[in-house]
Amino acid sequence: MEAETQFFRDTWAEINLDHLTDNIKNIKRHIASDEMKMFAVVKANAYGHGDLQVAEAALEAGVHGLAVAFLDEAVSLRKGGIEAPILVLGASRAQDVNLASDYNVSLTAFDLDWLKEASKHLKPDARLKLHIKCDTGMGRIGIRSADELKKIESYIHSISQFEMEGIFTHYATADELDDTYLERQLGKFNEMLAVLDERPEYVHSSNSAAVLRKPDTHFNAVRVGIAMYGLTPSQEMKEVLPVPLKEVFSLYSRLIHTKEIKAGDKISYGATYEASENEWIGTIPIGYADGWIRKLQGQEVIVDGKRSPIVGRICMDQCMISLPLPLKTGEKVTLIGRDGNEAVTIDEIAGKLETINYEIPCIISARVPRIYIRDGKPVKVTNKLLSSG
Ligand SMILES: *Cc1c(COP(=O)(O)O)cnc(C)c1O
Repeated sequence: MEAETQFFRDTWAEINLDHLTDNIKNIKRHIASDEMKMFAVVKANAYGHGDLQVAEAALEAGVHGLAVAFLDEAVSLRKGGIEAPILVLGASRAQDVNLASDYNVSLTAFDLDWLKEASKHLKPDARLKLHIKCDTGMGRIGIRSADELKKIESYIHSISQFEMEGIFTHYATADELDDTYLERQLGKFNEMLAVLDERPEYVHSSNSAAVLRKPDTHFNAVRVGIAMYGLTPSQEMKEVLPVPLKEVFSLYSRLIHTKEIKAGDKISYGATYEASENEWIGTIPIGYADGWIRKLQGQEVIVDGKRSPIVGRICMDQCMISLPLPLKTGEKVTLIGRDGNEAVTIDEIAGKLETINYEIPCIISARVPRIYIRDGKPVKVTNKLLSSG
């Protein structure tokens, strides 16, 4: 199979597009409105999953458009052949507006001075689609008052090349079960919407957490990231999930060397691990340069259906595990995912690293090839090291 020839190292991530499709369909069913437009958030290489492959699968599963953080990410998707609407959620540079126009990418308008600057750069035949960003309490980018919104709206209407396509805001606490702050933000957004002369085509405010928990934040479009990847926006939301979510990302390696060591023998840099009795050790070709960072020392992986701890310091390209029994090289090792009755979830890794699940697939670096699974079978491999351009 072609897929097997596209990388030459026994470490890979599997991206299960069947799970992605199921998650999207379940979320769409939960929203239960045919008019609702769903934007799949594929910023940061689709949270580390692979932007083009996720975008294609998400569009096939019925999402309306895509959202990214930066203009480069949007252009990359267009170059990959994506024709669906794309919105850049973050700030773009005013001097790059013609690029957005050329590639038919919608940008975020978050400040009147930026808009004035943008209009100076825009070529006469260019057309720029804009979504106004309201900062209702996130404190990141956006306009903060109804007054400012009125000014921005009339400025956009005064420039014929501008099209006011959307308006949106973003919640700081949608993943917390206490709604006080979210309600305040939603109230502010509604107040701002009320001063518009005309509502644009897209009005949106929900991220995954708000999509799953708060129907009154849906308006007519939603932006779904983490839930599409099968991850719960927060631990407290696990209790109230209205739809099942299936993890899309898993991570594997193979034993490339095994040996029996004697009591007193030591393992890895600093010789910090010492065998207390005879013990089998396996080496796997993944290390901190792959995003499998040193703090994961002690984390368990699954080999031969059993949990086995990483022992000694994690090196740049390799680490060692204590094996439950003598095993041969070539044995599959599951770092994230299921093997038999055992599973290591992304949430478990996030817990070990004292961070949120969002961060985990994002930090698995481009050196790790991604294998895409469809209908239960591998269909494509991406390997940034071997891809041209
Ligand atoms: C990243 C992002 C999202 C997606 O958030 P999830 O919690 O992953 O669903 C939505 N909106 C904005 C503005 C974002 O930056």
